[in-house]
Amino acid sequence: MKGAQYLLIPGPTPIPLRVARAMDRPMINHRGLEFKNIIEEVIDGVKKIYRTKEHLLIYPASGTGGLEAAVSNFICPGDKVLAISIGVFGDRFAEIAANFGGRVEKMEFAWGSGADPERVKARIDQDKNGEIKAVLITHNETSTGAFNDLKSIREAMGDHPALIMVDAVSGLAAIDLRMDEWGLDVVVSGSQKAFMIPPGLSFMAFNEKALKVQQKNPNSRYYWDVGMGLQYQEKGQTAFTPPISLYYGLQEAIRMMLEEGLENILVRHANYRDMVRASVREMGLELFTEDRFASCAVTSIRAPKDIGANRIRKYMLEEFNTILAGGQQSLDDVIFRLGHLGYIRELDLVSVLAALELTLVKCKHKLELGAGVKKAQEFLLNSHNAQAD
Ligand SMILES: *Cc1c(COP(=O)(O)O)cnc(C)c1O
Repeated sequence: MKGAQYLLIPGPTPIPLRVARAMDRPMINHRGLEFKNIIEEVIDGVKKIYRTKEHLLIYPASGTGGLEAAVSNFICPGDKVLAISIGVFGDRFAEIAANFGGRVEKMEFAWGSGADPERVKARIDQDKNGEIKAVLITHNETSTGAFNDLKSIREAMGDHPALIMVDAVSGLAAIDLRMDEWGLDVVVSGSQKAFMIPPGLSFMAFNEKALKVQQKNPNSRYYWDVGMGLQYQEKGQTAFTPPISLYYGLQEAIRMMLEEGLENILVRHANYRDMVRASVREMGLELFTEDRFASCAVTSIRAPKDIGANRIRKYMLEEFNTILAGGQQSLDDVIFRLGHLGYIRELDLVSVLAALELTLVKCKHKLELGAGVKKAQEFLLNSHNAQAD
């Protein structure tokens, strides 16, 4: 029996039954009192996840829509933009900025590593006349499984006036992010990653400093305009018809997240990272990122060269109804990625690691069956013992 699929890709992620049930409700008037209450609850809840008291708008869009909203509001045509990239999504943010007239200077770091705050500081220090208006950076680089130390990057900028704009689509609620405390100006996220709801909502938080830039920005925009969004939010409405079902789901997901507690959620994700990495190492596989850059949301694993990542993924799907993500661009067939963000339980991961081990044995990779699973079990035993103490 194949049963339900194990969906272990870094978005879309599985959704809890509670969320699925919450979404299965009739439509209501999106300009009525009932929906106003939902808007207020979800805006307040998402702000808690962002650890911000600043502005937050929700757009019906995938994460990229949110990134475009950020660029079209906060980057003026002709602005110099420093785009820090550690992978595919860093490149995408840079591309969007260039498309809207930003003069983009890219600062690239090797795939699999995080950005070096020292190099960022050196570039920022050079910019004596404040030519750079915005710094773009990815929180969690989903394509490689590395994350950026946003706090250090922001500190590296010192009192330079540029906005720091963050793509936290796959990082928020999986890896620590403190928008206000760290001084992040614009932070974009999305529903289908750690928020445990289907694709289709994008969140964008921004502060007063960003809003001031926006108010003078001559860029064309209509649907994405934050001025209009904020005006309607004051009345407890969205500017345009919202995807009501997704709001129902978001309301339930936020309740679940607040019940669990943000700190606990972050610890859980860090444990998944550590458990998966320990287990996979025991299987004799190589990890794509060093420990210090390793993401709590997704783990990239190098496939043995004689097997190839795509053969492993194919076998996992066909034999175990388990979906892992492949490598993107130059990493195709080189790595496979195991997403462990959002509504994933530790025993889901043990199952998937067991299936991976069977797959490797089947592909004639040399390993002792059970070694990786045992490592994962030992990890769980230790963490459960620690919780009980
Ligand atoms: C998923 C993701 C996005 C957005 O992708 P969409 O397909 O538009 O939702 C952007 N940045 C990162 C880092 C992501 O992981």
